[in-house]
This record gives sequence, structure tokens and C-alpha cells, in this order.
Amino acid sequence: MSEKQTMGFQAEVKQLLQLMIHSLYSNKEIFLRELISNASDASDKLRFEAINHPELYENDSELQITVDFDKAARTITISDNGIGMSKEEAISHLGTIAKSGTKEFFDKLSGDQQKDAALIGQFGVGFYSGFIVADRITVESRRAGVSAAEGVRWESEGTGDFSVETIAKASRGTSITLHLREGEDDFLSAWKLKSTIRTYSDHIALPIKMHKEEWDEEKKELVRKEELETINQASALWARSKSDVTKEQYEEFYKHVSHDYNAPLTYTHNRVEGRSEYTQLLYIPAAAPFDLWDRNKRGGIKLYVKRVFIMDDAEQLMPVYLRFVKGVIDSADLPLNVSREILQESRDIKAIREGSTKRVLSMLEELANAEGDDAAEKHEKYATFWKEFGQVLKEGIGEDQANKDRIAKLLRFASTHNDSDAQNVSLADYLGRMKEGQDKIYYVTAESYDTAKNSPHLEIFRKKGVEVLLLTDRVDEWMLSFLSDFEGKELTSVAKGGLDLGQLEDEAEKKQHEETETEFKDLVEKMKTTLADKAKEVRVTFRLTDSPACLVADEHDMSGNLARMLKAAGQ
Ligand code: ADP
Ligand code: MG
Repeated sequence: MSEKQTMGFQAEVKQLLQLMIHSLYSNKEIFLRELISNASDASDKLRFEAINHPELYENDSELQITVDFDKAARTITISDNGIGMSKEEAISHLGTIAKSGTKEFFDKLSGDQQKDAALIGQFGVGFYSGFIVADRITVESRRAGVSAAEGVRWESEGTGDFSVETIAKASRGTSITLHLREGEDDFLSAWKLKSTIRTYSDHIALPIKMHKEEWDEEKKELVRKEELETINQASALWARSKSDVTKEQYEEFYKHVSHDYNAPLTYTHNRVEGRSEYTQLLYIPAAAPFDLWDRNKRGGIKLYVKRVFIMDDAEQLMPVYLRFVKGVIDSADLPLNVSREILQESRDIKAIREGSTKRVLSMLEELANAEGDDAAEKHEKYATFWKEFGQVLKEGIGEDQANKDRIAKLLRFASTHNDSDAQNVSLADYLGRMKEGQDKIYYVTAESYDTAKNSPHLEIFRKKGVEVLLLTDRVDEWMLSFLSDFEGKELTSVAKGGLDLGQLEDEAEKKQHEETETEFKDLVEKMKTTLADKAKEVRVTFRLTDSPACLVADEHDMSGNLARMLKAAGQ
């Protein structure tokens, strides 16, 4: 047996522990949900590895989770017979936070407990939430497939460090014992634990078991029997029929699959039949994760085949521009031993991806175009969605030719019509407000809303009362290169080329412009010579009403904003 070693937590873990204990105190029972969620994940992992290595079951293939408590010792124990952890895994998984964006997240914390509590929920609390109610946690684990002598005991008081030592552990899997803090005795009751499990963990597909209790007439108290009973429904939530699942259950399931502590914005649950048979339960989060901009990050969809967990983050199931979608897809057609390589080529997967993409777009359309009683609430949700994920959705304009028109309808922009930086004008709204004789959709791109709003190019449009969309997101220029028109109307930059206002200009104005051009001919020629190597062209302009001069890009050149962006990126 090896010596007991003491090691320090990663700095972020220490910060997380501190914060969590103080800020999540009013919601402390979530620790049980988190530990059960981990036990369920560990069982999914074992089941997956066992597809090719059935010996990992060690003659014990009935995966389950047990929750037990000891009133005298003041402990609660959550055990599973899942994949387990080696000593190295315990050190890295329970001593550091592997999540991407961790450092950025901690940099954001303000020290204001209430604000930070909301943030920490968004980050996901996980294993460490045990320390909300425990002042010591003991984890005993043995990885599936290794000998009984190679178990590990990990222990910590949740302050600065933890210890690890090798132990003998006969049974495979993990057992987590919480030594309750003073005053947390409420949890030392079967009733309290059962109701907490039913509230937060009913959706777990494995049985969660507890010892039965029986009233003892002589002792006048409940006594614990050896026999176990199952507390939850223990069936995969997505395989149940919609009418059997409550909104709360859908939301708790979301928290389990997404590791998000907040409720989702919306979800969709369908069984698809036809050429390819599968069930999808897809969620849109209410807030963007910290690593939304990491395009290499794998998606948030768990793939199951006939209820057997296959893999997390199966990126082939969702296009990159919908990488924020979380949930489960359960296929009835794929083989159990499917690998990431096979997924890449699979026609079933292609059909699932196309079907799921359409589902997500419909889900967004239902919010954006809602009518009826709850329309206002749904529009509000769409506004939240757009604020959090709109910039990512824009990537779809360039990436998803097949759905481009649907995505274009979902776009929202700031516009001169609203005089606010809120992006809430759709292209359809714009079309509905077009002036008599206007045949183009006008926009300006800029680095910021203020720059866009004050652009001298807008002067003539303001004067004529013509609306202009104000585009200020980094992806806009790129997106516009794929979006030349909407419902037959060309999208035109107000900053490009010889601006042709078409029918918006009346005959008198045209005549006046021609006269002015003749008048300034000599001046223009002189300026052209002087600016020969600086400007491609010098023109008399009618697009300005207050400013004396402005720079414009040639019809086919990059816009000023794109040129600036590329320069900033060192190109
Ligand atoms: P998350 O579940 O989001 O990964 P947690 O803090 O809940 O984060 O858990 C951290 C890691 O610890 C898990 O990813 C897993 O590797 C490991 N772990 C926690 N509980 C168990 C368990 N019961 N069995 C096996 N591994 C576990
Ligand atoms: Mg977890």
C-alpha cells in the first residue's frame, strides 16, 4: 500500500469552493443532483467501454446508484458501479477544473456575492458542490478492469488541499461519502433524500436505490432494512412519451446533459420515423457558454444508440453554427460499436443532422414568429436568444446553403428606424417599411454602433426617410458576402460605389445633380491629379447633406470596415 500523499488544489478550484459554499447556500440540495449526475455519467461510460470489452462488467452488469445515510456518523454516501477512477484520474478530475474558459470565467467574477452566484450557476458546479453541505468528503474508487488492490481513496476538507492513497476496493466504481457540516442534519432522513432525488434526479435512466425503512414498535423509530427500493422512474427520459414528462423534468434533464445550472430557453422533443429512425431531445440554453467562440469545441449533443450511451459531444450531429444546442439523440439504426470515424461517413448521421438542423430552426421560428396568448413571452425569448447566440447563427448564412433563406429570416439588426443599438429589426420588417420606389435593402457596416449611426453615408438616407440597417458584429462582413439579396431585393452598402438611389431620386433632383457635376468638373479634375496615387476616383457626391467630403469604396472593392479588420488581423 502506498503512502498517503497530500496535494494542493488548482487555484481556480480553491476560488470555486469558497464562492460556492457561500453563494449557493440557499439551494444547497443541488449537491445530490450533481453527485448522482456524475454517477450516471460514470455508468454511461462503463456501458460504452464494455461494448467492446464485456469483461469490464466483472459479472456485475446491473448498473445502479445507491444513496445511503448514517445518522450516528452524520454521513451521506452516494455509490455507483460505473467506470470508476484510477488514482491519476482522481487527482486530475477532482483536483482541477478541465472546462475550457475556466480562467476567463474566474477573471469575470466581481466579488459581489449575488452576481457571482448567478455566474457560478452558469459555469456549472459539479462535484465540488458537495462541500456546500460537507466539511469533509471521502471518495473511494476503483476503475473497471483493474485489480481490487488498485483502488484509491481521495479525501479533502475543501479548503486548500486533498490527500490520495492507494486502497483495496473489492467492488468496481465510486463511492462518495459526505461528512455533513454542523446544522445539515436535515439530510439525514430518508424522506428528505427521497424527495430531493424525485425532484432533481427522476430523469436519470438508471435505478437510484435506497434502503427500505420499517417502523419498529419497540424502539418507536424507523429502522433501516437491508432491502433496497428504487426511488426514481429509472427510464430514459427521452424515450418516454411527451405527455408523461413535466416541464420541470425536462428542465432537470437539461441541467444533467448540459452541466448548466440554469433552466433552458426552450426545447423540442420528437420521435422521427421514416428512412432513419431516431429520437431527439434538443435544448437551447438561456445564456452563451464561455467558450462559444471556440469553433474547435465539440458540440453539446450526446449520442445514444437504442438507449446505450455512445459518446458526448458528437460534433457530426449538428452543424458548427448550431454548436450551442444541447441534448440527446438516440438512433435506432446505428451499430453499437460506431466510432467517430464511422460517424463521419454515415448516411444515417447525415440524415439525423439534416433533420435536427431543421428542428432547431423550427424551434427558433416558433419563438420569433409566435402569435397568440404567449406571443410576447416568446418574442422576449427570441430576443434573449438573439443577444446570446445571434452572432453564431449568422455563420449559418455562409455555411448552410440549404437553409440559408430560413436563417436569413431569423436575422435581427439594429437600424436607423429604431434609433437604438438593440438588434431587433428583421429583413421582413425592413421590406415592410420600404419607401415607394425603393428597390434595395440598404446597410452600413462599422466597428461600433456609434460609428455606424454617425456615418456621413447616412445623411442622404435620413433626409429621404429611407431606413438603413446598422451592422456592427465582426461576422457581418463575412456573412454579407454570402447574402446578396433577400426576397428579390438586393442588399446594398450605402458606402459603396456611385450610389444609385434609383426611383428615390426625382427628375428635378437628377437635373440639378447633372448641373452641379458640370459646374465642378474642373475642380474634380484637379483633385484627381493631386490625389492620383491616393484615390482611385474623385466624384461629386449627393449623398452628403452636412459633411463636406467622404471616402467610399469602389463597387467591387472591400468595404472600409473589412479593410480595417483585415489590417488589424495582420493581413
Ligand atoms: P463534470 O461532471 O461537469 O465533468 P464534475 O465536477 O461534476 O464535472 O466532475 C468532475 C469529473 O470527476 C468528472 O468529469 C469525472 O471524470 C470525475 N468523476 C466525478 N464523479 C465520478 C464518479 N462517480 N465516477 C467516475 N468519475 C467521476
Ligand atoms: Mg458533473
